[in-house]
Amino acid sequence: MLFERLRKPSHRILLIGLVMPWLSAPVLAETDSAKASKQSEVLIAELAEDESVEDVEQSAPLQTKGKDNKARKPETPQGGAGIDTPSAGSRKVAPNIDLKQVAPPPEAQVSAPTDTDADAAESEAMATEAVAEPEPQPEIREGKVFTLLDNDVMPGTSTRLAWTPRIQIAGLSQTTPVLVVNGINAGPTLCLTGAIHGDELNGIEIIRQTMYDLNPEKLSGTVVGVPIVNLPGFQQGSRYLPDRRDLNRHFPGSPNGSLADRIAHSLFENVIRKCDMLVDIHTGSLKRTNLPQLRADMNNPDVAEFTRGFDRMAVVHSSGSAGMLRTAAVEAGIRTVTLEAGESHRIQQHQISAGVNSLTSLMERQGMISRMFVWGDPEPVYYDSDWIRADHGGILFSEIELGAKVSEGEILGYVSDPITNAQHPIRSTTDGRVIGMAVDQVVMAGFAAYHIGTEAEVPGE
Ligand SMILES: [Zn+2]
Repeated sequence: MLFERLRKPSHRILLIGLVMPWLSAPVLAETDSAKASKQSEVLIAELAEDESVEDVEQSAPLQTKGKDNKARKPETPQGGAGIDTPSAGSRKVAPNIDLKQVAPPPEAQVSAPTDTDADAAESEAMATEAVAEPEPQPEIREGKVFTLLDNDVMPGTSTRLAWTPRIQIAGLSQTTPVLVVNGINAGPTLCLTGAIHGDELNGIEIIRQTMYDLNPEKLSGTVVGVPIVNLPGFQQGSRYLPDRRDLNRHFPGSPNGSLADRIAHSLFENVIRKCDMLVDIHTGSLKRTNLPQLRADMNNPDVAEFTRGFDRMAVVHSSGSAGMLRTAAVEAGIRTVTLEAGESHRIQQHQISAGVNSLTSLMERQGMISRMFVWGDPEPVYYDSDWIRADHGGILFSEIELGAKVSEGEILGYVSDPITNAQHPIRSTTDGRVIGMAVDQVVMAGFAAYHIGTEAEVPGE
């Protein structure tokens, strides 16, 4: 962790300067105000240790000054109210794309009537290309047209759409791919979100494998996947947004708030509200790893029932905190869990397979697909849990492995002081199972090292 801190900042500043000139300007403009520095103190505390670039608290709305667009229409007013205004009436039918084939990327599009003529012409060209072949009209078996991001996705088809929160310079704007498989049969809408923290990679692959295996001709209901929600973070290998904030503390967001608020708001209004069920996929953070597990508010009967569909998954009760996508979605009446699998910055096949299997079982339980075979051990296991912390600074060496069953008093690992040669054991405070743990690293006193789950009939009590 220490090394990270030393290494990252200069690197990060350089990147921001190069990649996002629009960000560095306000940073410079504000560093001399005492107010700004006070605010950045607060924010640094709020953020985690691997970030140290000055934050831009009062970032002015990133408006596009239409100098390069002759056809600029009345632009987004101050406060960015146009972020996700769905444009009435101008929907189009999404091209049917076989997701198993490598297909062209989604056309740039989305709501708001701010597209330039050039953009529109380009999208149109791409759309025509994509729909070049006449589509055979599938026989509609009570499946419904699914409308998302101003596109109608016909029953029995799959497609790639694009979402943009409209926070960037319009000419440089990047869209975030959204995959949709709309089943030919009626059923619920399941949404999958990945990489809300841009450095959490396992979920991206879990969503790819899950979505690309679905056959819209056999599916009941709709599956929507956003494999990389935090695209800027993903591109920089960062957990955070370009404004140094944690997106997963800003849901459901607001159209007039910070950058994170606006992105959260746009995603929530344009995509999440379309979902009946949501699985938000994460990994451990700060060099910690997790057994594949769900975080769910077991005090909410709808959510508790929802968890029963996840085969062989550890379920940890957690009521969630304000600003998390899970919390906001549950408050909006969407059955939601967080799926945690493995470590950040890594692609871990074992964790990915566990995630895919579990989502497959969920879809089967919800009547969306029928599986060829049944897994041996179909029940999820419920846990209450506690973190055990290091009481000394030093180098952490673990004696046990992820998933191990441990008993009270058992030594889980040591913190070794490299200067005095003292060895400080860390002992389990309870019987249970190691459902999450830190990888070996330099730690300080108070560092949460082992997450011990105790099986519970009714978690959360
Ligand atoms: Zn995360």
